This record gives sequence, structure tokens and C-alpha cells, in this order.
Amino acid sequence: MATNRTFTMIKPDAVENGHIGAILEKITAAGFKIVAMKYTQLSKRDAEEFYAIHSERPFFGELVEFMTRGPIVAAILEKGNAVEDFRTLIGATNPEEAAEGTIRKLYATSIGENAVHGSDSDENAVIEGAFHFSGREIF
Ligand code: UDP
Repeated sequence: MATNRTFTMIKPDAVENGHIGAILEKITAAGFKIVAMKYTQLSKRDAEEFYAIHSERPFFGELVEFMTRGPIVAAILEKGNAVEDFRTLIGATNPEEAAEGTIRKLYATSIGENAVHGSDSDENAVIEGAFHFSGREIF
């Protein structure tokens, strides 16, 4: 059953490049409600755990280094069909393949430094949200 929540991170590249405001504007203009949000930085251990599914991939070390090099914005978003609609809003993993107007097309610089994360399933949205937020932080 589809749930109505997804989890996102504005990644270190987009924070460094000053895109937090523009990305949040796109997210809320698309009808997503922010139900939890924090400005934080991942430790190496956090990033390794969050991306554990990619631990055997050749880009894993680079991904962990990138995701820990500066602060991120983590948020839980609410909207009908949240996971799928948010993946559409952010666009393909590689910004060169992302559709016009998507967040990655507008703000990502490479396949690795691609500005935003969006959960890929309802199950992962719940796991990823719980990774960053306690029940008291979700409204
Ligand atoms: N990534 C990378 N190189 C690749 C593929 C992915 O550095 O060749 C990074 C990129 O930051 C991506 C993340 O690993 O967002 C997770 O990859 P996934 O395939 O799950 O893409 P996503 O679901 O984020 O579009």
C-alpha cells in the first residue's frame, strides 16, 4: 500500500552552492508539506549505514566522503503518492539524464553530487525517516 510520506536530504553540494531556499521552494510549490526537518551533518558511520545497500559499488567510498563533507538538510515530506511524485520532481540520478525543470537538472553538478536524495520506496521512506528523526520531531 502506498503511504503518503517520503524522506529527502538536500546534499552537501547543494548546501555549499546556496540552493537550500530554492530547493525547498520547489518542494513546497509541488504540494509537499514538510512534517520534519533538520540541518545536520552526517558522520562517516552515519553515511556508511544510510548507504549500506551500495557498500559493494565502486563509488561507495566517494559517496561517503561526499555526503559527510558538509551539512545537509534532512526532511520528511507528506503528499499523496509521495515517494513516486518526489522521484519525478527530483529527476534522474544523473543530472544529464534528468528531465527539464527537475531539481537535479537545475541544481545537480554530477551523477555523484546530485543535489538531493529521495527515498525509492515506501518501505525505505519509513526506514530513512526513522534514521534521522524521533517521533517527537515529526509533526
Ligand atoms: N551515485 C554515485 N555514482 C553512481 C551512482 C550513484 O556517486 O554511479 C551516488 C549518487 O549520489 C546517488 C546515490 O549514489 O544519488 C545513490 O544511488 P542510487 O542509484 O540509489 O540513486 P538515487 O536513488 O539517489 O537516484
